[in-house]
Amino acid sequence: MQYDLIILGGGPAGYLAAERAGHAGYKVALVEERNLGGVCLNEGCIPTKTMLYSAKLYDGVKYGEKYGVKAAELSIDHAAVIKRKNKVVKILVAGVKAQMKASDVTVFPDRGSIIEKFEDGFKIAVGEELITGQKLLIATGSSPAMAPIPGLKEGLETGFVLTNREVLELVTKPERLCVIGGGIIGLEIASYFNSIGSEVTVIEMLDHIAGENDQELVSILKADMEKKGIRFELNARVTAIEENAVLFQQEENKRIEADKVLLSIGRHPNTQNIGLETIGVAMQKGAVITDEKMRTNVTNVFAAGDVNGMSMLAHTAYREAEVAVNSMLGLEDSMSYSAIPAIVYTNPELSSVGETEATAAQKGLSYKTVKLPMNYSGRYRAENEDGRGMIKLIMNADSEQILGVQVLCNYSSEFITTVTTFIELGLKLDDIKKIVFPHPTVSEIIREAVFKYE
Ligand SMILES: Cc1cc2nc3c(=O)[nH]c(=O)nc-3n(C[C@H](O)[C@H](O)[C@H](O)COP(=O)(O)OP(=O)(O)OC[C@H]3O[C@@H](n4cnc5c(N)ncnc54)[C@H](O)[C@@H]3O)c2cc1C
Repeated sequence: MQYDLIILGGGPAGYLAAERAGHAGYKVALVEERNLGGVCLNEGCIPTKTMLYSAKLYDGVKYGEKYGVKAAELSIDHAAVIKRKNKVVKILVAGVKAQMKASDVTVFPDRGSIIEKFEDGFKIAVGEELITGQKLLIATGSSPAMAPIPGLKEGLETGFVLTNREVLELVTKPERLCVIGGGIIGLEIASYFNSIGSEVTVIEMLDHIAGENDQELVSILKADMEKKGIRFELNARVTAIEENAVLFQQEENKRIEADKVLLSIGRHPNTQNIGLETIGVAMQKGAVITDEKMRTNVTNVFAAGDVNGMSMLAHTAYREAEVAVNSMLGLEDSMSYSAIPAIVYTNPELSSVGETEATAAQKGLSYKTVKLPMNYSGRYRAENEDGRGMIKLIMNADSEQILGVQVLCNYSSEFITTVTTFIELGLKLDDIKKIVFPHPTVSEIIREAVFKYE
């Protein structure tokens, strides 16, 4: 069977590209070896956010007395949370399946690999079958990164060490959870298990958590997480994993006992054993190199999503997929990475878009910062008894356009897009000042910060 487009991988990049190309009249084959929806729907964004919502509800009542809310008895049923999470995932995956059908996409539930490039396209092995396509989209995503830690392999085999995939399937709450890696995934999962009563320790090799996020806001978040009982071991290098313990080195050697360990030290693009080398696709540090049109160096081969290692977020994958399909169709479009929002879905959430003070300084940009406590927002004050949330607005001192924003408070994930829009459209301060924000909303903090700029 000859297709116009063969897509390897049915995650956000793959299924969105399939839908768009199908609607444009392409005959599309989507090859997915596990579950439609990829990591995001099945073992990433959606499962974590479903579970974190239960934790947030539970915390709301747990700390409700300050708001006049008292519960005689309070408990959280972790198994029921997982059951609901599975239901949500099932519904959304079914939705993707239905979208594929509606877009006339042929789904192959098998592993795909590239066999060869020929004059009129590419030959792909899908299980036992061979299919051909004129164009190819690599959307194979990413997998948890591993490290040469003695005992890790054994720990993974026995189920003592888990990746994001297994930890989100645990029906029994671990009494003691050790999280290796204080990045976004580690923090979100630590936050959930801390809320439901596990004793959580996060071991991080760097001197800070949450990656490239603004460290002033991160330190507030960290203090808040510590107050809730999460222990952080920074500047700590894991040296070995034993049957029921993790060994790590700070100034001295330490050992922490645990019931389960989550390994979350980053992710690497899935570029192995899919035949990319066979057709000469160029890669760097294991990621497919793409240009602003999502083209690879091989004509008619495109890539989108985590596989190019650019941002490793689902919304980036969606946009890259759109750009890839538009490029195939000959439509004018290109990918911009200057305003990609990123969220840490802890409680409170930490949202950011564009430059931080640190990145602006590194790039030698001329910038000024406005820093405001979230209490400038009436709604925030109404809903946060002792919240220490904060907004940071990074302005271009010459052009008076926004370079970036970081916000620590709940709902920030929902209104950070406002700032994304301002950045993408290049709005100037005077234009932004004329925009009306609904009152009372937490988002008004943006307006407050803009008016504080001088
Ligand atoms: C715990 C966790 C939480 C996350 N939370 C968020 C969040 O809140 N927001 C956010 O934006 N991002 C989040 N992410 C990241 C997000 O999941 C990814 O950025 C997104 O899934 C990338 O989409 P993708 O289509 O590139 O790849 P994937 O979702 O990884 O999909 C790739 C698919 O390709 C399939 N595949 C691979 N090789 C082959 C092959 N040879 N043949 C056939 N099929 C193949 C895989 O089975 C997989 O289903 C989270 C990730 C994790 C792990």
